[in-house]
Amino acid sequence: MKVLIIEDDPEIVESISLAFRIRWPEAEVLSSRLGSKGIELVKNQPPDAVILDLGLPDMSGFEVLRQIRASSAIPIIILTISSEESNVVKGLELGADDYVTKPFRQLELLARVKSMLRHHGTSEDESPMVYGALRCNPAERQVSLGQKEISLTRAESRIMQQLLRQQGHVATHSSLAEALWGTTYPGAADNIKVHIRRLREKLEEDPGEPQLILTKPGVGYYLAKIGVG
Ligand code: CA
Repeated sequence: MKVLIIEDDPEIVESISLAFRIRWPEAEVLSSRLGSKGIELVKNQPPDAVILDLGLPDMSGFEVLRQIRASSAIPIIILTISSEESNVVKGLELGADDYVTKPFRQLELLARVKSMLRHHGTSEDESPMVYGALRCNPAERQVSLGQKEISLTRAESRIMQQLLRQQGHVATHSSLAEALWGTTYPGAADNIKVHIRRLREKLEEDPGEPQLILTKPGVGYYLAKIGVG
C-alpha cells in the first residue's frame, strides 16, 4: 500500500506522514512538493492513492490532476482551502474522487483515503435501480431521466444509489456520508451539499428550483417520483 502526497507545505506533509505512521504503519508514504515531480512519481512508482494539494509552487494542482487522469485511474483526494468551493467542483469534474478542506484533521483524511481505497474498483451491489422515470446504472455510473443520459462522478453515483435505496424516504446526511466514505464526521453535510448541487446541475431543469432531488432541511435529501412520459 503506497500513498503519494503532492503538497508543498512541509508541515502538512509531516503531519499526514505522522498520522500514517501511527495509524497505518504498513502504508508507504512518498511525497513531492512539486506537481511535475508528483506526476513523474505516479508514472514511475505508481501509488495506490494520491493526496493532491491544489496550490503548488510550480504548476496548478488542476493541471497535475488532469495529467494524472490522462493516464491513470488511481484514487485521488484533493486538498483545498475551505472558502474555495468552486475549486472543489472543478477538481471533482477533472476526476478527483474526493476532497478534504484545510484545515483538516488527520484522522478524517485517513478515513477518507481508506474508504476511497476500499471502494475503488469494488463492485458492491451494482444492479440498476429505477424510480419513476429515473434510472441509475451504478456499474456504468450513468443516470437516465426520460431521454436524458447523464454521466456521474463516483461520489455522485454513490449519493444517487443511496437516494434510490431510500426511495420514498429521506436519506439522512449521515446515511449519505456512510454511503460515500463508510463513516460520518462533523461537517459531512457541507461536503455532501457540494455533490448534491452538482447533481442538481446535471439532472434538474432549473437547479435553483429542484423538482427531483429535494431537501429536507437539517435532515437530508429525498427523491421526488417523476412520472414516465
Ligand atoms: Ca500549497
